[in-house]
Amino acid sequence: MQEQLLDVAIVGGGPAGLNAALVLGRARKNVAVIDEGRPRNAVTRESHGFLTRDGISPSEFRRVAKEQIAAYPSVSFVADTAVSVAGADGHFQITTATGQSFASRKLLFAVGMKDQPLNIPGLTEVYGKSAFVCPYCDGWELRDQPLAVINRGAEVMHFAALISGWTDRFTICTNGPDELTEEQREELRRHRVPLYDAPIRSIVSNEGIVRQVVLEDGTAVSCSGIFFKPELAIGSELPRALGCKLTELGSVEADMLGKTNVPGVYSAGDAASRMHQVVAAASMGALAAAAMNNELNVEAWSRNG
Ligand SMILES: Cc1cc2nc3c(=O)[nH]c(=O)nc-3n(C[C@H](O)[C@H](O)[C@H](O)COP(=O)(O)OP(=O)(O)OC[C@H]3O[C@@H](n4cnc5c(N)ncnc54)[C@H](O)[C@@H]3O)c2cc1C
Repeated sequence: MQEQLLDVAIVGGGPAGLNAALVLGRARKNVAVIDEGRPRNAVTRESHGFLTRDGISPSEFRRVAKEQIAAYPSVSFVADTAVSVAGADGHFQITTATGQSFASRKLLFAVGMKDQPLNIPGLTEVYGKSAFVCPYCDGWELRDQPLAVINRGAEVMHFAALISGWTDRFTICTNGPDELTEEQREELRRHRVPLYDAPIRSIVSNEGIVRQVVLEDGTAVSCSGIFFKPELAIGSELPRALGCKLTELGSVEADMLGKTNVPGVYSAGDAASRMHQVVAAASMGALAAAAMNNELNVEAWSRNG
C-alpha cells in the first residue's frame, strides 16, 4: 500500500507544535504530530503568563490542547521519537524510533530546547520547585523573597536590574571568577547587592525548597529561591541534519514566520527563538502554520490550474 503524503509533519508536540496543529487542522490539512513527550518544563508544577491558562500544569495544558485539536479529524498524534528526516520540499520522509515512517509536503521542527545536566550538587532537587530560569515565568511566586542569582559575566548586570523588579533581597553567586569589571562590581556595591565568586559546593534544600547555597569557602547564602542560567541545547539534531542553519546559541535560524533556509522546512517555539515562553512558542507555531498553509494552498492552486 502506498504511504499517505501528509501536508505537514510536525516534529514536537509542545505549545509550538500543538498550536500549529490546531491552525492546520482548522485549515483542513492532513497533519501528523510526532512527539516523544519530553518537554523542558516537565519539571514545573505550574506554568504562568498564558492568558486564560495562568498557573496550569504543563501536562494539563497539553491534555486540553489535544482534546480541542481532536475536533479536527485530519490531525493525528504519534507518540514516538523522530530519528531521521530526508527529502526536499514537496516530499520529506520521516522515520521514528519504532520504525514508523511518514511522508509530508512540509515539515515543522517544534523540538524545543533541552537542559544540559545541572552540574551543581543539589540543584536538580530544587529545579522547577524553587529554582527557576525566567522571572517572567516564576518571579511573582518569589516576589520579595531572599534569592540567590547564579550567573556570571556581563549577564549578571542585566539580570540584577531585571530581578530588582521582583525583589531587592538577592545575592549573586558567580560560582567561580565573576568575569566583571571593577566598574560593574562598584555598581553592584552601590545597589547593595552581595557578590560571591567562590565555587558553589552544594545547594541545601528541604522538600524542593532551597534553604542555602553553600560555597567552597564555607560561606552559606540563605535564600528561599534561585534564578540561574541553564546550559541549553536544541531538542533534536534533526534540523541540523537536514541542513537548517543554526544560530550561535544552537537554535534554528528562522524568520518571523518560522521559515528556515531549507525550502519547505519551518521551525517554531523555543527551538527557533530566544524568548522561551509558552505563549511565544504557541504564537510562533500558529504563524508558521499559517505560512505553511499558504504555501500549500498556492502550490495546489497552481498544480490544479
Ligand atoms: C523550569 C521551567 C519553567 C518554565 N515556566 C514557564 C512559565 O511559567 N511560563 C512560560 O510561558 N514558560 C515557561 N517555561 C518555558 C516553556 O517551557 C517553553 O517556552 C515552552 O515549553 C516551549 O514550547 P515548545 O513547544 O517550543 O517546546 P517544548 O514544550 O519543550 O516541546 C518540545 C517537544 O518536542 C519533543 N521532541 C523533541 N525532539 C523530538 C523528536 N526528535 N521526535 C519527537 N519529539 C521530539 C519533546 O519531547 C517535547 O515534547 C519554563 C521552562 C522551564 C525550564
